[in-house]
Amino acid sequence: MDYLKAVLNSNTDEEIKNLEILISVGKKLNKNVSKYERALSQIDTKNKTIKKIEPIKIDKITSIKKPKITSIDINDSKYTIKSVESRNNMIIIDFKTPITKDFVRFYEKNVKDGQQDIYDIKGRFKDAYPTKLSIPGVKQIVISQEDTNTLRILFEDKTNLKTIYFINNNRLILKVLDLDNKTLATTNNKPKISTSKKIQNIVKNKIVVLDAGHGGKDAGAVGPHKRYEKVVVYNVSRYLETLLKHRGYKVYLTRNSDRFIKLQNRTLLANKRNADVFISIHANSVPKSKWNEAHGVETFFLSPARSERAKRVAEKENSMDVRKMNYSSKNVLLSILNQSKITASNKLAIDIHKNMLYEARQIHKDVDDGGVREGPFWVLVGAQMPSVLVEVGYISHPTEGRRLYNKKYQQKIALGIANGIDSYFLKNP
Ligand SMILES: [Zn+2]
Repeated sequence: MDYLKAVLNSNTDEEIKNLEILISVGKKLNKNVSKYERALSQIDTKNKTIKKIEPIKIDKITSIKKPKITSIDINDSKYTIKSVESRNNMIIIDFKTPITKDFVRFYEKNVKDGQQDIYDIKGRFKDAYPTKLSIPGVKQIVISQEDTNTLRILFEDKTNLKTIYFINNNRLILKVLDLDNKTLATTNNKPKISTSKKIQNIVKNKIVVLDAGHGGKDAGAVGPHKRYEKVVVYNVSRYLETLLKHRGYKVYLTRNSDRFIKLQNRTLLANKRNADVFISIHANSVPKSKWNEAHGVETFFLSPARSERAKRVAEKENSMDVRKMNYSSKNVLLSILNQSKITASNKLAIDIHKNMLYEARQIHKDVDDGGVREGPFWVLVGAQMPSVLVEVGYISHPTEGRRLYNKKYQQKIALGIANGIDSYFLKNP
């Protein structure tokens, strides 16, 4: 998990540290560690090829025109982009604040003996005098500030250039695909597709099963003013369904009305539909004496981990029939969890959580970040695909509960979850 985090955060030092731990522990346990060793050796070569843009000394240029009093901070506040660098087959652009898809425009252009992929990015970067970046195998990459608020990154190459982008919170990653095979391509006849079509193509055959928690005789948590969890989560699911269908996903709901459905039948549907992801939507709660304390969004994925907090939420969301199961049969179920599914679920949870929090804060800045957590959620156990449980807020909190009953807020939460699903599939097509 630490290794994954390091990769996601592009923290090379942590990446190396955790790979070394995996290798040394793995060897002691007589496990095959060749893939970790391979990854470690790749990082070493990576480090050699990382090319950072040399920062241009702003103070030298400006010191002639401006009095010394002008602080760098004032200058820097105009710049919304912190850094741009190339790494392997990627260009990584870090913004000062989280960004959305609206920040990126993509064009393809045929030029004399070649092709260009152009990204116009909403933002300002101080070191963008036409500067060259390099990715081995790509003829040239030029970065320039087109106007005060548009950073352009232009890829040019002889043959079919395939680039794709994805967004992770503050980070925009432009990735060049198929570098290895590219030298084999000789013709330039492939149909041109726009980025939005690329996204549509990725999601086209993706199947999402949405599970609105509780229903019917099971109201879920009940907050102040008789606000029901089952009502909120059902509405969010329907908005989410509409958004995802509009984007080209195939979507199924475990319930399309206010009715009771057994826990195991929820994942049964996901398996039957051969879903790519399973998303269970819930609202959290605490006992009445703590109503004013707990609030915020949390996203859980299934794992054997048993932190106190995850255990509390899990106990509450798990149905009676599962609670009656004894400790050892629960453990047997958990021990057969597939590690690659846990990893995928963790990634999905991170993408959904970040995007949901970002959208929720567009309406209420003070929405609390409860983080991504793991725990033994029985509603997720039977699912054969990556699956997460989203807690869209605390229905028990007087203010948050009221917000959760607001249609606009429900739609924002749904939008965040939809963007998170997009982001996951873009990175894991
Ligand atoms: Zn629930």
